[in-house]
Amino acid sequence: MPQPITPRRTNPTPATIEAVKSWIEISSRNLTANYKTLTTHAGAEVLAVIKANAYGHGAALCAPVLARAGAAWLGVTDAAEGIEVREALTQADIALPQQPRILVMSGSLPDEADTIVSGNLTPIVWSLDQLEPLARAAVQQHKQLPVHLELDTGMSRQGCVPGKQLDRLLQWFAAHPSLALDGVMTHFASAEIAGSLQTSDQQQRFERAIQQVRAAGLTPAWIHAGNSSTIDSPIDPVEHSGRWLSRLAHTVAARPMVRSGLSLYGYCLPVEPEQGYAGQASSLLTSHLQPIMTWKARVLDVRSIDPGTRVGYNGTFTASAPMRLALLPIGYADGLRRELSASSPSSGGWVNFGSDRAPIVGRISMNLTSVDVTAIPSVRPGDEAHVLGPGITAADHARFAHTIPYEILCGIKATRCLS
Ligand SMILES: *Cc1c(COP(=O)(O)O)cnc(C)c1O
Repeated sequence: MPQPITPRRTNPTPATIEAVKSWIEISSRNLTANYKTLTTHAGAEVLAVIKANAYGHGAALCAPVLARAGAAWLGVTDAAEGIEVREALTQADIALPQQPRILVMSGSLPDEADTIVSGNLTPIVWSLDQLEPLARAAVQQHKQLPVHLELDTGMSRQGCVPGKQLDRLLQWFAAHPSLALDGVMTHFASAEIAGSLQTSDQQQRFERAIQQVRAAGLTPAWIHAGNSSTIDSPIDPVEHSGRWLSRLAHTVAARPMVRSGLSLYGYCLPVEPEQGYAGQASSLLTSHLQPIMTWKARVLDVRSIDPGTRVGYNGTFTASAPMRLALLPIGYADGLRRELSASSPSSGGWVNFGSDRAPIVGRISMNLTSVDVTAIPSVRPGDEAHVLGPGITAADHARFAHTIPYEILCGIKATRCLS
């Protein structure tokens, strides 16, 4: 993990322009506020999902901020990311009665078992192929390893299927005390659909599976389901998802939890109604959340062009008037999606200089992008453009790129620091 470089922000000189050309600032204040908003709305414990390097925001940067904000659980991709986060928490030296627990969310391979046990990570498991190496590692290290069991309630991506498959795993748990069934969880395929019939079907299967766990005499401490959209959108017109989860957890004397990633970073998926659904179908959270990432890039060069001049690869953009263009040191290699390219004024994306908008001009290249600063005559080499920030969000980029904000955020590559 490279040491985050603190960018020099004021009075750019040629030396500082060279030092950092593009970087990301993560607002610890907004991250803290988003986490608190989510805990207020969730009606359950909120597991802060920082997998995939905190959706591009930097897991090692975000984890200590979330721990200070009170997060008892953090979710990571795999064992390696769990160790990186554990180290960041240790180094941050936060005065806490206990460190957050770290959930390894994307399954595990046999050779990750030792690291999971020694790193005090809690893996999500659903098969004997995962459980057996973990049990061996736990015995070897003289530890009892808490695990969370994923149930497939209808997404059919991963998880143990309730019924016979689940019975077999529950019997296995009873015979292997080196592993403790600390949690039972499932994931919803359509959480952003208000009144989703798929979700209510998954809820019912989850409820029956929890009773199956109870009947086997196992007592998980945590029951969790869903994501940011589960907090944001009503599954059921009469019962908020948090209340449903609390009621369900209560039946097995466990604690309810929802897992949230995207909304920690300030975004919500649009809430869409199930066909025929007459209840409320809009995002409750959007207006309470703030993006936490500002992506900045310094102007490399400024040039003036004459009418008729073609700009960039394949000359897709032709100036119809005299223009001033600023060259930015970022491109699709940095995660600035090529779909933001513009063949005419304002047909593509834009960056901001303060509150002034500078539209992208021509094709976005691998490491370079031209923007129109004709209307902002003060722009000079070394000045800071906001690639993402106030007035331009990952949701805007996602619209151009026909994708979701998740993919935009995960794809950004730049030096990161806290602000
Ligand atoms: C990524 C993930 C989440 C978080 O989803 P968001 O939509 O980002 O809130 C929750 N649960 C599981 C199992 C996940 O993989």
